[in-house]
Amino acid sequence: MTRVQISQEARGLWGERIHAVVPEAEFVGRDAETGWMPEAITRDDRGFVCTGEAAARSGRWPMDRDPYLLETTVPGIFACGDVRSSPVKRVAAAVGEGSMAIAFVHQYLAHAGSAPAG
Ligand SMILES: Cc1cc2nc3c(=O)[nH]c(=O)nc-3n(C[C@H](O)[C@H](O)[C@H](O)COP(=O)(O)OP(=O)(O)OC[C@H]3O[C@@H](n4cnc5c(N)ncnc54)[C@H](O)[C@@H]3O)c2cc1C
Repeated sequence: MTRVQISQEARGLWGERIHAVVPEAEFVGRDAETGWMPEAITRDDRGFVCTGEAAARSGRWPMDRDPYLLETTVPGIFACGDVRSSPVKRVAAAVGEGSMAIAFVHQYLAHAGSAPAG
């Protein structure tokens, strides 16, 4: 787009004005603002929080058991929605993961007491 044509007909003023514009695209929400998180919560190279399989693969998962799907590299800390390292960035996914996280918290608490490995 290189120009915008504005018609003033709606205001009862006949005539048109043409404005030149500079093409611009802005990407909102491309990166995660997670720099404030403790180092122990592993993030990928764009700052998104590693959970589940990604947490297990990171080499920083401290337990003998596998992490739950939404569990970060800190056992008992869960992440869901856009901040999670995942290709799916959608409202429905964020809402669904939020409800799943509660179930994982219950599971975690039910099994609390397992000691960290090593
Ligand atoms: C331009 C754009 C268009 C989109 N269009 C669609 C669409 O059409 N359909 C669709 O399904 N999805 C769409 N999405 C994606 C959708 O918005 C997200 O997937 C969804 O909002 C993720 O929800 P969330 O709760 O994980 O994160 P968010 O909705 O981003 O909520 C995170 C909240 O946490 C707050 N926050 C961040 N850091 C901190 C902090 N340190 N302390 C306290 N609060 C903090 C933020 O201010 C924000 O309110 C779009 C996204 C963008 C950017």
